[in-house]
Amino acid sequence: MQLRFLGGAGSVTGTKVLVERDGHRLLIDCGLFQGLKQLRLHNWSAMPVPSASIDAVLLTHAHIDHSGFLPRLVELGFKGPVYATQATIDLCQLLLPEAGQLLTAEAEFANQLGYTKHAPALPLYSEQSARLALEQFRVCEFDQLFEPAPGFSCRLAPAGHVLGAASVHLRCGEHSLLFSSDLGGQDDLVMKAPVPPEAADFVLLESTYGNQRHRSTEALTRLAKTINRTCARGGVVVVPAYAAGRAQLLLHAIRQLKNTARIPDVPVYLNSPIAAAATRLYQQHAELHRLSADACAAMLDDVNVAHTEAEAMALNHLDTPGILVATEGVANGGRVAHHLKAYAVDARHAIAFTAHQPAGTRGAAMLAGIPRVKIHGEWIDIRAEVISLPGLSGHADHQGLLDWIEALPRAPRHVYLMHGEPEAADSLRQAITERQGWPCSVPEYLELLYL
Ligand SMILES: [Zn+2]
Repeated sequence: MQLRFLGGAGSVTGTKVLVERDGHRLLIDCGLFQGLKQLRLHNWSAMPVPSASIDAVLLTHAHIDHSGFLPRLVELGFKGPVYATQATIDLCQLLLPEAGQLLTAEAEFANQLGYTKHAPALPLYSEQSARLALEQFRVCEFDQLFEPAPGFSCRLAPAGHVLGAASVHLRCGEHSLLFSSDLGGQDDLVMKAPVPPEAADFVLLESTYGNQRHRSTEALTRLAKTINRTCARGGVVVVPAYAAGRAQLLLHAIRQLKNTARIPDVPVYLNSPIAAAATRLYQQHAELHRLSADACAAMLDDVNVAHTEAEAMALNHLDTPGILVATEGVANGGRVAHHLKAYAVDARHAIAFTAHQPAGTRGAAMLAGIPRVKIHGEWIDIRAEVISLPGLSGHADHQGLLDWIEALPRAPRHVYLMHGEPEAADSLRQAITERQGWPCSVPEYLELLYL
């Protein structure tokens, strides 16, 4: 069996693991690179194997850093099935066409304003390509054994990260491989905790927060304090959020804080029709998380959703205190970029990040305290309060990751740490090596292993 890390190695985006045996190829996840330019360029570089030679793709969840390269893979000639849980497919039907729209809009915007060095800037793929890719999806259920490609059998287990998210247990000849994918925390407000891992020879573990400790209760208190402080000074709290997962958790958290009078009853705006649609999917798939269908419906009570462009643009001129949740979570593009231009320049407002901000993103720069960032070719001074709430992210922290892997029924032969920036991955590697003595390493981009 061969393993090749085509993304999500030494970084948190672009996750793709190619597993190969006896001439058959299975690609686990097909993520888009985001953040640093040298990473984003990988989206344009040639795949190390012809896309048409891949038998099947298995998607662990719908987030773009795990699914967003799929339309491009199809454009490059991939014709096989794409396996995912029903909830992941439902979310991909919202997220992938939107990704195509965003990529197209950003290229057009760059061409119009002339801030691109490429003439003309081209989108990686269009909405139409994304819709074509969706035709290749096939449903697979949690806990059921199936054969995604000849010689591979696999089983998905709930990973507690976002609706439909799965860890993958793969058997291939005499070897077994477990890929955690993104793992949720034990105390996530919406998702159930990830199920304990099944024994495997080789384990691929995510390490996004491999060097951080966080709890959702503390993050909720900090969110309440931020909202109270900002509203008291007449400001708006802008929360960049992924349409699937973080938006629902935030809407639920805000509703709970209002119900218990921990924050004032200020207006809540959601600039993402996709996030509103994803919230309805949480309602439909209530068996997959902790909340009732009614609690999911209540997330959108009194929330002003911007549907039209005019409604979205009007959100740049709010003159009373409020909370503005907008996509995307890494604040690099999408709708929230326009709001950052409007609100980051004024010290009355606050920008609260809930997701991990990958190196090279605007969010990472703002959290590092950089006083000016460039948005749509224009320098913006950051005067608003900028805070991070990692406890509201969809990821387990250092301890959560250790607890999960230490629940393995037997020692693995090797642990590979993925989906983490170098410091986070190495901190987790050190902890696993010291506590368990298991061989553990951090693979590099394009590294090829013969197992
Ligand atoms: Zn994810």
